[in-house]
Amino acid sequence: MYNRNVYQDATKDKIAKITDFCEDYKDFLSKGKTERMCVTEIVALAKKAGFVPAESKKTLAAGDKVYFVNKRKNVVLYRIGTRPLTDGLRILGAHLDSPRMDLKQNPLYEKEEFALWDTHYYGGIKKYQYVTVPLAAHGVICLKDGKTVEVHVGEDPADPVLGITDLLIHLSGEMMQKKADKVIEGEKLDVIVGSMPLDGEEKDEVKANILRLLNEKYGIGAEDFVSAEIEIVPAGPARDFGLDRSMVASYGQDDRVCAYTSLRALLDGEAPEYASCALFVDKEEIGSVGATGAQSLFFENTLLELLAKTGADDVLSQRRALERSYMLSSDVNAAIDPIYASASDKGNCAKFNHGIVFEKYTGARGKSGASDANPEYIAKIRRVMDEAGVCFQTGELGAVDQGGGGTIAYISARYNMEVIDAGVPVLNMHSPMEITAKADVYETYLAYKAFFKGTL
Ligand code: MN
Ligand code: MN
Repeated sequence: MYNRNVYQDATKDKIAKITDFCEDYKDFLSKGKTERMCVTEIVALAKKAGFVPAESKKTLAAGDKVYFVNKRKNVVLYRIGTRPLTDGLRILGAHLDSPRMDLKQNPLYEKEEFALWDTHYYGGIKKYQYVTVPLAAHGVICLKDGKTVEVHVGEDPADPVLGITDLLIHLSGEMMQKKADKVIEGEKLDVIVGSMPLDGEEKDEVKANILRLLNEKYGIGAEDFVSAEIEIVPAGPARDFGLDRSMVASYGQDDRVCAYTSLRALLDGEAPEYASCALFVDKEEIGSVGATGAQSLFFENTLLELLAKTGADDVLSQRRALERSYMLSSDVNAAIDPIYASASDKGNCAKFNHGIVFEKYTGARGKSGASDANPEYIAKIRRVMDEAGVCFQTGELGAVDQGGGGTIAYISARYNMEVIDAGVPVLNMHSPMEITAKADVYETYLAYKAFFKGTL
């Protein structure tokens, strides 16, 4: 059902389903504040639904449910179909990383009797949005003896929060004249972690006290940050948004909203004809690079492992399986913002409560970098959505030459598979408080389910 409001003719039962689904979604967001935490949560939910590590299976049969984890930051789940893998798969691919600040390798320093953590931001952010908001720290510290210490501070109401200061308005005459991209610069995104001096120290007493605390709590020293990965993210759980509670406000909805809906579509679906796959990658916000990003060979390797278990591990079988696959690149889209409506083309942008968004192309400046989905494929998708009664719309990332962006679609398109971006519209994208409409979250889940089940 193209371009209609989900609430038009929605039954009470449907509205209750939307609400219930989003309670679970908020829970996922509140627990998954980093890609590692999302992987932990995804594996826990998958195990509950009967998925097992792929290594535990020697052979594969229709209906089998397996997963592979890559370096705790990237995971892929498969549900084996009645047809052989070489007939192609139905793939959903979402990313688990979100913009944030990462600790540098030598982060702790003292200045003006404060202890601070030095950071480098990750992904595209309006830096001024990340000052004066409560922040949490999540991550791991890997020690030389092979042990890994987990760090989680700022989510429990009993925990302290951290934060980045901004100059008071009274003294900001000069600062207020600066351009928005210069008003808070990258090296100013340092997090205050303490102010209490350690008695008996001569120099940097506040830093010494923080080191003492870190040593007591985690058994680490200053040097151990060299092999740590600690992410600074907005603190606190996902919340309902709006007097009518029709929306969700939370950090990290790009792209955990599509990750969660993809996951649930796979877990809740029936045994498929074509194998279904949900791929969750890291590093999308910085170009899909690295061993855990979409450009890594991890996904291909896992497919080869599966093919080997079905006795078809030759390159030709692998190429056929990939080329005959259909994919939805599950990623968010920009929704029209009532206050900044002129940044969108009204006739072609995504709207809240109008369902999942299919985005033929991303890119910037003349579609540069877009994989541009084929109309033959889009026609099939339209049919499947209409057959399932799912509300869908089309969208683009802003009016022409307003900016732009990319997703992982072009990476999968390299396998010569059909792929289109499909996900939830978002307001405030990449900010500490991203907003989605609950009806779109639920409709996207239904759309992903229909994609796995439908005849393409
Ligand atoms: Mn995204
Ligand atoms: Mn993004």
